[in-house]
Amino acid sequence: MHSECPVCNASFNPEPGFYFGALFVSYAFTVAIMVAVWLVLYVLVNPADWIYGVALVAGAVLFSPISFRLSRVLWLYWFGGHKPNS
Ligand SMILES: [Zn+2]
Repeated sequence: MHSECPVCNASFNPEPGFYFGALFVSYAFTVAIMVAVWLVLYVLVNPADWIYGVALVAGAVLFSPISFRLSRVLWLYWFGGHKPNS
């Protein structure tokens, strides 16, 4: 990750611990992924309970790299004073 934006030179780490709040965005993504996995399983398959548990954890783990990066980008756009395409 660059330390500052190559286009507008805005800092990607404005203060220590800046990305701590992205945790809450990532949490929301994880809940949304789990609800989506549950809904697909419930509507299409309706498997045994233990399969729901395994599928929800597997879905959250598989999407965690995307959730991690997307939540940090959104946090930076919302609170880092950095605008897209600027
Ligand atoms: Zn920029």
